[in-house]
Amino acid sequence: MIKGWLAEGEIMRKTPYYSYVVGELPKGCQYCVRGEKLVLFVTGVCPRNCFYCPLSSWRRKDVAYANERPITKIEDIIEEAKIQEAKGAGVTGGDPLARLTRTVDYIRALKEEFGSKFHIHLYTTGILADKKALSMLYDAGLDEIRFHPDLFEPSSKFLNREIENLKNAFDFNWDVGGEVPAVPGFEDRIKWFAGILDKWGGKFLNINELEYSETNLRNLLNRGYKPVSNESSAIKGSLELGLRILEWGERNTSLNYHLCTAKLKDAVQLRNRLRRMAKNVAKPYMEITEDGTLRFGIAEYEDLEELYKFLIEEAEVPREWLYINWEKKRIEMPIEVAEELAEVVEGDVKFYIVEEYPTWDRIEVERIPLN
Ligand code: SF4
Repeated sequence: MIKGWLAEGEIMRKTPYYSYVVGELPKGCQYCVRGEKLVLFVTGVCPRNCFYCPLSSWRRKDVAYANERPITKIEDIIEEAKIQEAKGAGVTGGDPLARLTRTVDYIRALKEEFGSKFHIHLYTTGILADKKALSMLYDAGLDEIRFHPDLFEPSSKFLNREIENLKNAFDFNWDVGGEVPAVPGFEDRIKWFAGILDKWGGKFLNINELEYSETNLRNLLNRGYKPVSNESSAIKGSLELGLRILEWGERNTSLNYHLCTAKLKDAVQLRNRLRRMAKNVAKPYMEITEDGTLRFGIAEYEDLEELYKFLIEEAEVPREWLYINWEKKRIEMPIEVAEELAEVVEGDVKFYIVEEYPTWDRIEVERIPLN
């Protein structure tokens, strides 16, 4: 259906990243799709409470993360950016402006460490984006600011102030754009916002395909929204709405548009980021998969010291092939070594091949038992 629709209009390009663009891709997005943007979550605090907010409950607090790594000090951010070989950062939340000093400190620290070319964009509701806040962000080196006004709450008490503050953003020499989810039923409101951005000299509107998360699913179902299929988190009608807005925008405004799909985030952005990180965190006994995950062998046993001694002295495994991971209570090793040992070692030792994300939280995505 979408293909046919495109062929008829032929007014937008499908990107190699499963997204759609009119004009040029916003600069922040260019880095993001290549996995080069550090996701800098400054705080979960937000003055709004959108029904579609995807934030998990443990992130709706005043917590800060650089990608998956909790931030306790500025150096945590720098270290994470180095592991990712990041060339920029997307500052997000919550609303980062709810913790303005922290946000400014983080932006400044990144610019100082990585130089002025390190591209930083920031998302905000706009509620707190008064002239003083904007000038602090600008002075810290922010390159791009994206407004996400309260378009989907018809009697919003925030919208007027958000739009007034959006106007202030044009007093600075940075890229100003909008970023909103494509919520079916709100086509006119999104077009209205695009029209304002266009009139005031905005650079782009980035539209996200609406997705459900564990947190917002109930709200979305209650309002009649449904997932596209059992395999996808995308919401029915959102992609089509985004495409209609792009078509309209191409004809009626001079803004650049990007329709960022659920598939882009999952299959392109995350994968590219993982691949960049994997090569910097993989230990010699780990394989890096096409998806950027790490695969290796492990042995589990209640007494790790005893097992380590046994593997070296009895099974004659070279020391350099074994790594005791105390935190995860296991001994890690090359896959071939785990496979061979699984055939000969008897008793309660369990051998597996595991596959993990190369992220700070090392989420395990697969575990294959070998014995
Ligand atoms: S503005 Fe963003 S972070 Fe705040 S409630 Fe809405 S979706 Fe969540």
